[in-house]
Amino acid sequence: MSELPLAGNCVEEKIVSLPVLSDFSPRSFRTKKIREVKIGSVTIGGDHPVAIQSMTLTDTRDAKATLAQIERLQEAGCEIIRVAVPDDEAAAALPEIKKHTKIPLVADIHFHYKLALKAIDAGVDKIRINPGNLGGEARAKIVTKAAREAGIAMRVGVNSGSLEKDLIDKYEGPTPQGMVESALRHIQFLEDEGFTNTVISLKASNVPRMIEAYTLMREQSDYPLHLGVTEAGPMFTGSIKSAIGIGYLLQNGIGETLRVSLTADPVEEVRVAWEILKSLGLRTKGVNLVACPSCGRCEVDLLDLTRRVEEAVQKIDKPLHIAVMGCVVNGPGEAREADLAVVGGKGKGLLMKDGKVIATLPEDELIPALLREADLYDVSTRPAGKARFVASV
Ligand code: SF4
Repeated sequence: MSELPLAGNCVEEKIVSLPVLSDFSPRSFRTKKIREVKIGSVTIGGDHPVAIQSMTLTDTRDAKATLAQIERLQEAGCEIIRVAVPDDEAAAALPEIKKHTKIPLVADIHFHYKLALKAIDAGVDKIRINPGNLGGEARAKIVTKAAREAGIAMRVGVNSGSLEKDLIDKYEGPTPQGMVESALRHIQFLEDEGFTNTVISLKASNVPRMIEAYTLMREQSDYPLHLGVTEAGPMFTGSIKSAIGIGYLLQNGIGETLRVSLTADPVEEVRVAWEILKSLGLRTKGVNLVACPSCGRCEVDLLDLTRRVEEAVQKIDKPLHIAVMGCVVNGPGEAREADLAVVGGKGKGLLMKDGKVIATLPEDELIPALLREADLYDVSTRPAGKARFVASV
């Protein structure tokens, strides 16, 4: 079948000429050499990829439920997992959780230095603390010494909502400058104690504020940064705020690990995090799906077709670029940069591979055929020089 006219410009995402993924180095975004920090089996900073984190919602005291959630998160692509440790019972569950958790485990501690010590004893890979709220300098020193001796990492979490009072007074509010000064104080304290395996977070629910805080921090320090918009909200608004805040920073070379905080199933946090990284070309994982927004030319239920394709390709691990287009007028042209594409028509559609139409099929055969082609597609033999990167613009 001959190729249909290549015309129009109607996709939501624009194909841009960037390096092919295999040649694409996330470090090309970096403007500064960042310290490496090892969190169990995952190292962040240096030339390492941006790592995805999430946090369990389960009661940590219930080790079985917590482990089940960790497994689901790991399957979704979570690489570092944090659990809240609010009391002794939760701390007591940590050895069992650690024993069965394959990804690095982080204990989230507030106020109780003894819980931090118990978490370190349990073998966690990192503790998330705020040295300023552990009950005084002497206790913070004890925790720092224990973490140093255990060789684990520590995240100093500065949040705009819990900034020290003197800094709020000095800066007349929880400003980015105050947040950075707080983090620098904590870093100085830890360095004085001989501890440098530190990761910093400067989260705020206000997106411009968190962007400014992380940007200022990066100017003043080379410690790896854990990005996040705190209290981002439910799935829809939270994803948008996170994509803007985290995405802006990553695109400017800032951020070595991230958590998308959503008031939702944490598996969604991991899925959104991956989409942020994939859309910036910083990581590859599974399918990068492109779909046209549909219009009056569309002769297929494109929303339903796209939803079904999205569902069908979810388990594909290969970094494939798949397009779903709504009509044969503009679809083939717009889908030419995709590895594979389905183009809807009246009761039938086109299946495309590397910009060429390879079959015309009844609509109900399109997705099974797409999946067969996806299975056969060898990403290592992609046509050379073809742009494999789709950037949202
Ligand atoms: S239906 Fe066709 S013309 Fe309309 S947005 Fe989709 S590809 Fe473009």
